[in-house]
Amino acid sequence: MGRSLPVLNFPALAGTLGSIQQQVSQFFTPSPTIPAPHDGRTVDDFKPYLIALNLTKRCNLKCDHCYLDATTKSAGGDDELSTEECYKLIDQIAQVNKGCLLVITGGEPLVRPDILDIARHAVKLGFMVVFGTNGMLINDRMAKELVEIGVMGMGISIDSLDPQKHNRFRGVPGAWEAALAGIDP
Ligand code: SF4
Repeated sequence: MGRSLPVLNFPALAGTLGSIQQQVSQFFTPSPTIPAPHDGRTVDDFKPYLIALNLTKRCNLKCDHCYLDATTKSAGGDDELSTEECYKLIDQIAQVNKGCLLVITGGEPLVRPDILDIARHAVKLGFMVVFGTNGMLINDRMAKELVEIGVMGMGISIDSLDPQKHNRFRGVPGAWEAALAGIDP
């Protein structure tokens, strides 16, 4: 004798499905105590106040920890923005908040030949401009030019008080000495 077929109890099944549907719709319905997405906040509440622009992968150091693998001194790679594209990007940021702090960095931004023009463009639009740099290319002339443009500060990384540790970490002999000379050109 064969096994009997299962009996489907449609009214019971419909009841179960109805209950699941109710639970799902309760799950997705926002609770009145949670603020709705349109709670009076405007686009001004989401303005960026600090933007870091990694404008090149070129660098004169070879740090083990480099997050950009920035080791090419001569060219920035296929994805590097042109000068005009950098201007356009900065113009677009200005439409959102031209009062924000703009960190120009890389790679090593000062390896890029047009970087002072880009900084000048940003300062003219009203941005507070600072650089993130390894400091090795700052000499007296460069420091004066940065001041004249209106750049507000240079963030220079020193990894150790011990020059050997810094140089080993940065992959280039003399990097510590050059960074300190950049701090006090
Ligand atoms: S100085 Fe910065 S950009 Fe250059 S290799 Fe080191 S971490 Fe990368």
